[in-house]
Amino acid sequence: MALRFTGREQWGAKKPKSVTPRSPSELSGVAVHWFGSPRAAGSHEGCAALLRSVQATHMGPGGLGVANGGADIAYNHAVCPHGKAFTLRGFGVQTGANGDEASNRTFAAVVYMAGTGDKAPTDEALGTLAEVIRAWQRKGAGPLVKPHQFFTGSDCPGPNLLDWLELKPRPWAGKARPRVPVKDETPDWLLDFVHWRVAEGGDRKSRPKGLPKPIPESAHETAARIERMVTVMGPQESFLDWVAWRRAGEKKEERPRSVPRKIPKAWRDAAKRLEQVFANGEPPKPSEPKPEKPETRRIGARTTLLSPPRASREQLEGHMLARAHGDYTDANVRAILKRYVSVSQKAGLDPLLVVSQMVLETGNLTSFWSQVPRRNPAGIGVTGEPGAGISFSSWDKAVRAHVGRLLAYALPEGSENEAQRKLIGEALEVRPLPADRRGIAPTLEGLAGTWAADTKYAGKIARVANEIRAAS
Ligand SMILES: [Zn+2]
Ligand SMILES: [Zn+2]
Repeated sequence: MALRFTGREQWGAKKPKSVTPRSPSELSGVAVHWFGSPRAAGSHEGCAALLRSVQATHMGPGGLGVANGGADIAYNHAVCPHGKAFTLRGFGVQTGANGDEASNRTFAAVVYMAGTGDKAPTDEALGTLAEVIRAWQRKGAGPLVKPHQFFTGSDCPGPNLLDWLELKPRPWAGKARPRVPVKDETPDWLLDFVHWRVAEGGDRKSRPKGLPKPIPESAHETAARIERMVTVMGPQESFLDWVAWRRAGEKKEERPRSVPRKIPKAWRDAAKRLEQVFANGEPPKPSEPKPEKPETRRIGARTTLLSPPRASREQLEGHMLARAHGDYTDANVRAILKRYVSVSQKAGLDPLLVVSQMVLETGNLTSFWSQVPRRNPAGIGVTGEPGAGISFSSWDKAVRAHVGRLLAYALPEGSENEAQRKLIGEALEVRPLPADRRGIAPTLEGLAGTWAADTKYAGKIARVANEIRAAS
């Protein structure tokens, strides 16, 4: 059976917006798709129109997950239920169908033009599909033929073709001599072993059946090397797409095509960790890693409490020591600030804001409640009623109680890491906090009317903070 492709002009294709060349010899093989939706055309007369409408969808706004739409219909070739083959992007062009950059770079995409509810493909259609796959192999593509599902965990290309792709001998294996004239020596169990070790953690309970005992050294070597490769490769595009989508609110219609249907547990764990690193959802500011370029934005009511330090310890000291500080010596003040910086930073809070609150609450450590033996740094439990307020036996305890309490205001329950949870627990043992205050103050403005009755409270803390930063 001679394979003949219906060309782009014949089915009425629009011109592609752009073309990314990709030689078949760079490919590991071919990925097989179906439409899923839309369904097949009722007769062959409708097939060209069906392709035109799919092309319009792929190139229209939001098509192929791109705001302005994809460059062209996503696939390289199509095969219709009537056994005809069509040129879409064709040979030598990179596909946009496989779900992510890596799979698009390494696999061509052939689509079977049917969807959910359609009849199983006829032998004629399957014969054409096999021919198209062989044509790719003749052009230099590698021997792998994978369902789209292999890359993203989707349903594609539907139950019938999934079965067909499992058949042995391979339906697309021609009588031609094998392209690689060496014995295929990779044992079936090897990749099960590697996957188990690398992707599943090698837990004894989940040990795949059929592994030899003992595992030969070369297999361990393979697993160890792949583990190294995965480590240096770092997070993949599909993972980053998923994290970005999650941050943006996980809207169903915006789900990236690269994201697997079942999110691996390792991804969830990694995302949790990232969220803790960038606590409060604040993305890292490019200026932060460079100490010579401190963040210059003014502190205001909308400034987040969880942040790397926005002022140096020298600035904090400079501010406090230049003003009266009660019965505390300069050395006392330095020691107190050292505690504040260390405990705040470990908790993820910006020491500048914590110290600014302390300065505001204690009048720069001159207030009655801040003096020894009370050492109350932030009006904790001080309600104005005679004698009401909490005393601390050391500044270490006072600082931990203050920072932990502020952290409880800043972080919703359940989003803490281990150390944060411990600190909050300590602080709330000193003085309980109503549940509706938890996480109420991701930014300074959340403290106004809650920590203090004063509605201008946030602005007052910000003013102190800006004064501290003005000092150099
Ligand atoms: Zn697909
Ligand atoms: Zn047709």
